[in-house]
Amino acid sequence: MTRDAAISRVSDYFDGGRFQADLGDLVTYRTESQNPAPEAAAEMRRYLEEAMRPRLERLGFTCEIIENTDPRGGPFLLGERIEAEGLPTILTYGHGDTVRGQEGMWREGLEPWRLIEEGERLYGRGAADNKGQHLINLAALEAVLDARRTLGFNVKIVLEMSEEVGSSGLNALFHAQKDRLGADVLIASDGPRLQPEVPTIFMGTRGGTTFDLVVETHEGAHHSGNWGGLLADPAIILAHALAEITDRRGQIKVPEWRPTSLTNSIREALKDLPVAGGEGPEVDPDWGEESLTPAERVFGWNSFAVLAMVSGVPDAPVNAISGWARATCQLRYVVGTDPQEIVPALRRHLDAAGFERVQIRPHDRGFFPATRLDPDHPWVTFVGNSIRRTSGGPLHVVPNLAGSLPNDSFTDILGLPTIWVPHSYRGCSQHAPNEHVLKPVCRDALRIMAGLFWDLGETGGPA
Ligand SMILES: [Zn+2]
Repeated sequence: MTRDAAISRVSDYFDGGRFQADLGDLVTYRTESQNPAPEAAAEMRRYLEEAMRPRLERLGFTCEIIENTDPRGGPFLLGERIEAEGLPTILTYGHGDTVRGQEGMWREGLEPWRLIEEGERLYGRGAADNKGQHLINLAALEAVLDARRTLGFNVKIVLEMSEEVGSSGLNALFHAQKDRLGADVLIASDGPRLQPEVPTIFMGTRGGTTFDLVVETHEGAHHSGNWGGLLADPAIILAHALAEITDRRGQIKVPEWRPTSLTNSIREALKDLPVAGGEGPEVDPDWGEESLTPAERVFGWNSFAVLAMVSGVPDAPVNAISGWARATCQLRYVVGTDPQEIVPALRRHLDAAGFERVQIRPHDRGFFPATRLDPDHPWVTFVGNSIRRTSGGPLHVVPNLAGSLPNDSFTDILGLPTIWVPHSYRGCSQHAPNEHVLKPVCRDALRIMAGLFWDLGETGGPA
């Protein structure tokens, strides 16, 4: 058997309608992790037991369903398929939970829990995030196994059911099962390609942290005529404090928040990456760090945003000096910014500018670190070459996504290099009504994953 035979098997799987049927089955599970109802919890278990376990066992995996030690999270499935000691081992990952179905908000003719085909699109909740993505990887493994009878490598899999509620319990699971999850690399799929027609790999994510800035000047609000000029105005103080954090085009002024990790090799990797395209607003060319390109600003730099800001009662203003003002702020940051130092650095910066009375209140979801793998890492080269060989066209190699994933669990707890091969696209409406996947992208993704798994068994991975 040949590489081409494995790829042609997986193309037949798509062309014969079996991919669509399998995805249709997965979409019928109402796996809403944000829904606290007991029926939703039962559905999480059913997805693992009924939709995933038989498929994995058919491929020769041994599976175990593990309870989540965090009461906010659903169960996990751990599976492994060991062919031989000494072969390379990959870990893969997927999440079977989805955001809420948002029934009644989908366009006429569409609904969340039934896969509906319209032209090149397959609509359904979870089709893109993440059911279609882990299905593609499992189907590609199956095609290689059918073609060669062996994989030529070992595979381990983690499926979680709590990704949309912050991957509750995932870190605890990884700490407890660290030895069992040992591998050479993580190869998994989530998120969008930068452009639908070009395969993408990314190796990390930006981190993010959210906090409130609060100015409280006095009890209650006081008449703006009798007290105006006598009482400090919290909204004005807050606005000036924000102006110490960035300048008028959003360039960060806190010294410790300015990354030092934008090396030449990262710049080189970001050089040709598109930042817009598909659906979405126009990029503002005059916003952000002036000396950087748009791709460097979003993938290679930190960004500060005010998510919400309020003083007084905006919908019903009265003639009074408000007693307080509050802004909810967020810093998205790349590798090299120490998450534990973000708030202390801001505190020092504000104090030095005379804003001691501006309080910083971190949100309790805490910090997660940014992750990145060097674009020259041997696994990046290996995976990139394999994908280019299958697709015959360009590849977008992104050192880290601008957004976020629980990638630090894999890099920091399990110590793995991480390669994500996203199978969706930016216009897929994940987390909104009308979520869908594009059929040509799914077909292409099945083929590149079959090629990748073939090459891994054939060559044993990077030398
Ligand atoms: Zn999601």
